[in-house]
Amino acid sequence: MAGPSAPAVLAKGMKHLDLDGHDLPPSPAPSSPSNGRKYALATELVYTESGDQYNSSSMPIYQSATFKGGPGQEYDYSRSGNPTRTHLERHMAKIMNANRALVVSSGMGACDVITRILKPGDEVVTGDDLYGGTNRLLTYLKENGGINVKHVDTTKLDVVKAALSSKTTMVLLETPTNPLIKIVDISGISSAAHEANTDCYVAVDNTMMSPYLQNPLDLGADVTYESGTKYLSGHHDVMAGIIGVNSASLGDKFYFMINSTGCGLAPFDSWLLLRGVKTLAVRMEKQQANAMAIAEFLENHGFKVRYPGLKSHSQYALHWSQARGAGAVLSFETGSINLSERIVESTKLFGISVSFGCVNSLISMPCRMSHASIDPATRKERALPEDIIRLCVGIEDLTDLVDDLSQALVRAGAVRLTSEGFEALSVAEGETGRTTQVVDEP
Ligand SMILES: *Cc1c(COP(=O)(O)O)cnc(C)c1O
Repeated sequence: MAGPSAPAVLAKGMKHLDLDGHDLPPSPAPSSPSNGRKYALATELVYTESGDQYNSSSMPIYQSATFKGGPGQEYDYSRSGNPTRTHLERHMAKIMNANRALVVSSGMGACDVITRILKPGDEVVTGDDLYGGTNRLLTYLKENGGINVKHVDTTKLDVVKAALSSKTTMVLLETPTNPLIKIVDISGISSAAHEANTDCYVAVDNTMMSPYLQNPLDLGADVTYESGTKYLSGHHDVMAGIIGVNSASLGDKFYFMINSTGCGLAPFDSWLLLRGVKTLAVRMEKQQANAMAIAEFLENHGFKVRYPGLKSHSQYALHWSQARGAGAVLSFETGSINLSERIVESTKLFGISVSFGCVNSLISMPCRMSHASIDPATRKERALPEDIIRLCVGIEDLTDLVDDLSQALVRAGAVRLTSEGFEALSVAEGETGRTTQVVDEP
């Protein structure tokens, strides 16, 4: 679990130094289990010591902008460093299998920090089914920063290879993508990118999986980042972004940006995230078990379902070669925008909301909400079905969730109740009977 800096940390009598040579609290540095083997992630998530003077069980919130004392002390100004934030960063580095983690005010803030190392003339190769906000930021950089951004189908290794060149300075990936749930070969693309240009950085947005299910750095990526607003915090009560790296120089570059722009996560938000992440394992296990059952339920009723837990997913093998679970986001098509709208409006437990990763189940129509910032023409070009419904499954009782969805499907007219159970109606009748054209333009 520990990276190259670990031996210094684990050796008896040695000081616990971070990459900058700071003497830090002993944990959340990588723990040294008494049983001689590595603790499992579920254990590491909850195991943390703060070195607090009162032995507090929860890391205190150092709600202080400044720290008294002279030069050479560990903390002086919270934009540059704060004990609560440092504690979270070291905890996250351990969880992400990274040598260094940096926490900022949002997932997009993390993406901003990462892309700020680009210079005019640099080339970025990225996907064509990106998170809306990422797409918006890259478009801004293309139009104002002199960055050449190439959007390609990153699910095809040969297409990515053809787009790479010695000028490619960054490859930015997301897997699974959302809401199309396309899988991207992290290790294949990382090798190809480094072959094309040894100085190329491969950055992976790991928000959909969380470090509990996928560790991009172990697969050859240089940077892993994610929105802490989602699974890491789990309760939709805080916004945060996390960046993980193994390279000390890359970590320093990102730290420079964070200190320069002042986007480091605030003490109280750091504390909320520390609290939330402790339950990541139990939440994720329950959420993906619920998601799997719901994906099967929908597939059995004739809907086209996209979920990497289903054997019918065309990239099932690739996904499981790099991840330990399928996550809890799935999408399905109904064949009609109107029908999708009626379904989304008819659920009660599945709340209509953007975002995911919360303990509550959510439902949305991405083309109307999270992906609305991508213009309709581009959505069409990228084959984003306008009727697609995204489900972000929470930790509620499974029977209640299935009942809620079933009733919504019946009320919306997508299925009919018969003596044998549900019967799908024409628009949802398998591949051939389905209306695939967009029914009404938004
Ligand atoms: C939410 C999200 C982001 C942005 O994170 P914020 O915390 O909302 O800024 C980036 N990528 C993906 C895949 C996301 O789902």
